[in-house]
Amino acid sequence: MTRTIEDLIPDYLRGLPVYVPGKPIEEVERELKIHAVKLASNENPLGPSPKGIAAARAVLGDSNRYPDGGTQLLRDALAKRCGVLPEEILIGLGSSEIIDLAARVLLRAGVQGLTLEGTYAPFSVAIRASGAELVLVPQRNFAFDLHEMAKAITPKTAVIYLANPNNPTGSTFGREEFCEFLNAVPDGVLVVLDEAYIHYAVSMELRDSVEAYCKRKNLLILRTFSKVYGLAGLRIGFAIGRPQLLSAMNKLKTPFNTSGVAQAAALAALEDHDHVARCIETNARERKRLSEDLAKMGFRPVPSESNFVFFNVGPEAKAISEDLLLLGVIVRPLGWMGFPEALRISVGTAEENDKCLSAIARVLLMRASRSELATR
Ligand code: PLP
Repeated sequence: MTRTIEDLIPDYLRGLPVYVPGKPIEEVERELKIHAVKLASNENPLGPSPKGIAAARAVLGDSNRYPDGGTQLLRDALAKRCGVLPEEILIGLGSSEIIDLAARVLLRAGVQGLTLEGTYAPFSVAIRASGAELVLVPQRNFAFDLHEMAKAITPKTAVIYLANPNNPTGSTFGREEFCEFLNAVPDGVLVVLDEAYIHYAVSMELRDSVEAYCKRKNLLILRTFSKVYGLAGLRIGFAIGRPQLLSAMNKLKTPFNTSGVAQAAALAALEDHDHVARCIETNARERKRLSEDLAKMGFRPVPSESNFVFFNVGPEAKAISEDLLLLGVIVRPLGWMGFPEALRISVGTAEENDKCLSAIARVLLMRASRSELATR
């Protein structure tokens, strides 16, 4: 037999795009020998919840033991907080794992997964990796067009992925628009609502989606400890969903997906109300300043309800991001997500944002004088 291992990789996996993560800060500092700020991965610039760190430290010494695979304490706490039952909570290795599990459980060749063009890339990857057909609906004004999404549903549609707020644009859809959309979705289609950035959205309430969930059988809500709780490095997130669906996902997840350290940190971070409030307030203030200062420079940032700002800079976006890198500011060029003219900048601390804004001003000046010289 002349078959190779590579021949066993299905065609639909060969064609998958590679996820491009933000450049690690250590790599930039090592290569360029400069102090850098990373505003490329929508992390929490104020750090982890101090209560979370203390709780993680307290259980590190138990790391010879496997963690609680049933994540009981954390599920109990989340269930109480969200007003659902513990069996309606699934803990994942970040919410990323649950994005993937939903596809693995419900999608296969012959059915369709639906999402927005240019939204969070792992949605499309999960759909395609399942062998299902990926159906993309175009954005309207850098946002989800829920009317068009509803129109795109066919008898083959099995899962729909939405992000509210959306990444990378930071736009949101409101409660009424969402309820209207849900009414148009047949019961046999799962709506995955990714709310990774929900805490930062001033126009939305945490309970809105849970109320919608209580009325519907086909909604799966995803949330994460990576953003407002500052635990991205510990990899822990969760879903609120119907027990039958969650138990199918449970069968597929690895038995001890989240570490005991991550579970303890998440449990404590959940109760760290001061840290959460400080992070939300700092983000709102700095996001406003960043957006306003970018507008003063002539850009038109998309109104953001998240912890990042998206704006078009023109065909030189990639080159501008590389110039910024040389000045020690790591931002995200978005060509790989289908926006070759855009940058996404995560909201940092006041000092980080100062550095970023003055680096942008410098780069624009350098580029303007270079092109003036070229035209002389
Ligand atoms: N969903 C969205 C929309 C995101 O932007 C991100 C991360 O940036 C995630 C999910 C992943 O979160 P987690 O760290 O919980 O896997």
